[in-house]
Amino acid sequence: DKIKQGLSKTRENLSGKLDSILKLNKKIDDETLEELEELLISADIGVDTTQMLIEKLKENSKNISTPLELKEALKKEMINLFPQKNTSLIYPTVMLIVGVNGVGKTTSIGKLAYKFKNEGKKVLLVAADTFRAAAIEQLEIWGQRVGVDVIKHKEGSDPASVLFDALQAGKARKSDIIICDTAGRLHTKKNLMEELKKLHRVCQKEYPEANLVNLMVLDATTGQNALVQARIFKDAVDFSGIILTKLDGTAKGGIAVAIASELGIPVWYVGVGEGIDDLYEFDPRDFTEAILN
Ligand code: GDP
Repeated sequence: DKIKQGLSKTRENLSGKLDSILKLNKKIDDETLEELEELLISADIGVDTTQMLIEKLKENSKNISTPLELKEALKKEMINLFPQKNTSLIYPTVMLIVGVNGVGKTTSIGKLAYKFKNEGKKVLLVAADTFRAAAIEQLEIWGQRVGVDVIKHKEGSDPASVLFDALQAGKARKSDIIICDTAGRLHTKKNLMEELKKLHRVCQKEYPEANLVNLMVLDATTGQNALVQARIFKDAVDFSGIILTKLDGTAKGGIAVAIASELGIPVWYVGVGEGIDDLYEFDPRDFTEAILN
């Protein structure tokens, strides 16, 4: 399937090397685990997370004597590292989509709009990245493509007032899901974080009945840098989940494991291509099977 295809670069990197380690060391010993540790770190799973995994395997070593048992134990421990996505969506929902420019935020919003519309939901998009005219235009293009309305103001206007209008419109039109784009200019970090907090407050004040979901978009091809970005945003706002994009373009898919285990934020969706239907709900089991097959 498409997720598996999208993760092929990561799988080739990880699984191919894993097989050669396990073949060289028919008996599972400390050396095998050391080689495994190196491999996991090189696959962007992260030093801390890798060490945690290796510890778990050591604790469990009496049950692991064959390469196959090691692989299965590794999969199991990896799956356990992912925090559970604890809520399915309750409507109406307001989704605030946050992330640095270029990570694939607008594309992901377009894909989400398409997905929810196909599920029969009434979708409204909000162009609250008022910092760049291009961002507003790009969202409008997605709106037309998917066939959903976009609430927008002029470039440079107050993002909170765009969201305010969108919430009123969403209530009046009985939208099931209101998806809000936000600015991603990290060079004015402090202002950006204040802006995001303000958007939050607007939602809570103007539409308390709606279920507020904060999603952070991270670009998998940036590897460990995605973790750095995530920590900066996490300090300002509480996140419900992560959208991890561009998994198709990287062998660094292991970053999903690091992000989930080190931030404790579940991955909700993954992007595996530029197409409108290249966004999938994340499933830890499918993901792990796809990269360690
Ligand atoms: P934004 O600045 O965060 O809104 O980023 P955009 O949505 O404009 O995306 C930046 C680029 O990344 C565009 O060329 C998108 O087509 C591309 N992109 C977004 N998501 C994915 C993905 O999952 N896979 C691939 N290969 N490209 C993606």
